[in-house]
Amino acid sequence: MSRILVAEDDPHVASFIRKGLHAAGYSTEHAADGETALFLARAAGFDLIILDIGLPLMDGFEVLAQIRGEGVLTPVIVLTARDSVPDTVAGLEGGANDYVTKPFHVAELLARIRLRLTEGVAEASANVIGHKDLSLDLHSHRARIGGDVIDLTSREFAILEVFLRHPDRVISREQLLNQVWGYGFDPGSNVVDVYVRALRKKIGPQRIETIRGAGYRLP
Ligand code: CA
Repeated sequence: MSRILVAEDDPHVASFIRKGLHAAGYSTEHAADGETALFLARAAGFDLIILDIGLPLMDGFEVLAQIRGEGVLTPVIVLTARDSVPDTVAGLEGGANDYVTKPFHVAELLARIRLRLTEGVAEASANVIGHKDLSLDLHSHRARIGGDVIDLTSREFAILEVFLRHPDRVISREQLLNQVWGYGFDPGSNVVDVYVRALRKKIGPQRIETIRGAGYRLP
C-alpha cells in the first residue's frame, strides 16, 4: 500500500483529501504546518507527498527546497490557488513533480497521484543493469541469470556490478580493488582473484575472461 503525506493546513481540505485517498486504498499521514511536513518528509517512507504552498511556519516552497536540497526524491504534488499558478510553475523548478490547482476534484488528484507513482516504478526498473542474460537489480540486490536468482555475497555482487557497467572492457585488478574494496587496499593482494574465482563458480567460468597481465573482462 502506498503511503502519502498530506501537508495541508486547512482541516476541511486535508480531511477531504485524506478521505479520497483512503477510499482509493492509500494510507496517509497529515501535517498541518510546514515544519511538521519537513520533519515527516525527512523521516522518509512516503511514496508521495501532497504539499500545499500556503502553510504556516514554513511555506510549501521552502519545504520543497529543503527536502530536495537534502536529496529526498519522493515525488511531490503541489497544491496551489488558481491565481498563483505562475508562482507555482516557478516553484516546480524547485523540485515539485506536478501541481493541482484548488479547488479540485478528488478524481483529478488521484489521477495525478497514480501517474507519479507509476513513474517511480519506471525509475526503479531503471535500476536494473544487465548484459546478455545476466542482470542485477541494484535496489533489491538480486542477481539473475535468465530468470534464475543467483545467491551472491555483497562483494561478489559489487564486482559483478563493475563488470556489468563496463561490458567488453578490460578491468584491471587495481580498478576492481579501488571500486569494490576502496582505495588504500594493498594492490599486491590476491583478494580480487579469489573473489573472481568464487564468482565464476556461481555464474559460470566462461562469463568472466582473464586477460593475461591486464585483468578481467565480461565478454
Ligand atoms: Ca493553505
